[in-house]
Amino acid sequence: MHDIIIIGAGPAGLTAALYALRADKSVLVLEKGTFGGQITYSPQIENYPGFASMSGNEFAEKLVDQVISQGAEIEMETVTAIRDNGATKTVVTEDGEHEAKAVIIATGVKHRQTGLPNENELVGAGISYCAVCDGAFFKGQTVAVLGGGNSALQEAVLLSDTCKKVYVIQNLDYFTGEARLVEKLKEKDNVEFIMGTVISELKGEKSLEGLVLKKESDSSITELAVDGLFVAIGLIPNNAAFADIAGLNEWGYIDSDESCVTKTAGVFVAGDCRQKQIRQITTATADGSIAALAACKYIDG
Ligand SMILES: Cc1cc2nc3c(=O)[nH]c(=O)nc-3n(C[C@H](O)[C@H](O)[C@H](O)COP(=O)(O)OP(=O)(O)OC[C@H]3O[C@@H](n4cnc5c(N)ncnc54)[C@H](O)[C@@H]3O)c2cc1C
Repeated sequence: MHDIIIIGAGPAGLTAALYALRADKSVLVLEKGTFGGQITYSPQIENYPGFASMSGNEFAEKLVDQVISQGAEIEMETVTAIRDNGATKTVVTEDGEHEAKAVIIATGVKHRQTGLPNENELVGAGISYCAVCDGAFFKGQTVAVLGGGNSALQEAVLLSDTCKKVYVIQNLDYFTGEARLVEKLKEKDNVEFIMGTVISELKGEKSLEGLVLKKESDSSITELAVDGLFVAIGLIPNNAAFADIAGLNEWGYIDSDESCVTKTAGVFVAGDCRQKQIRQITTATADGSIAALAACKYIDG
């Protein structure tokens, strides 16, 4: 029996572990993929307070070391369900079951990918899924944003402030995001819309050099030279296994607020997988500390 089981070893889950350990609780962290979470895909972080610049891997390594040195148990296991037994919870994984007094879900999100060949090889070498995180690396350069919803339009607005040229590529003939954002982009001299068009190929081996574009209406092909591509075609929260126990909203996020509580007593949520506006390391770590302290309070009565 552990005091707290944390699902997901990203910035939210590891921060939760740190706070719970320092409150003298026994902690088991279960991670299905990469210790450190999504941030390990980032070649450079320049917006985490106190650190002018570091790679995602460097940050993840420091955080994992810190948590292990405080006495956390960390296991590589994929969680498939949580059972509520009242005063205790059973966390079911692909390898077995674990018991705890409280559980924190910190499973993050996946960015929807284009699915094009060599996309993964070019992540961090021209392809990004986050303008807030990586936009500054493309200052004065030419970039494209893929998508037509609010996220894509907001990314384009942000990038247009610093990039030489921003193309917005949308498969439909209209944007699905807010008209207000479209109008804002129309006012910018350095923004161009490419509508009814999909990307059929990513050019470049070591880094992104350009895009092959296919017009949906007549299948005509053109090439576009770009330094960067921001893919903003949606996020997929890793929450399917927790729909019953935690309660999901219409977008699949765990329905919670800054209190990090869920609809089940003793089950808490932290980080990108909960409903929120800003998904960044700072907001994930903030959630981690709040969820851990709430879980400690729940256990101590
Ligand atoms: C390329 C890139 C660059 C970024 N750059 C920045 C930046 O510069 N600054 C910034 O502030 N933010 C940046 N971000 C965003 C930042 O990485 C996230 O906001 C942050 O990692 C969220 O932390 P989290 O712990 O909530 O989720 P995650 O980091 O997603 O961690 C969740 C973890 O849970 C695990 N998991 C999921 N499901 C299960 C399961 N069923 N069982 C067990 N484990 C599970 C996942 O494998 C993952 O390791 C970037 C993101 C990306 C993709």
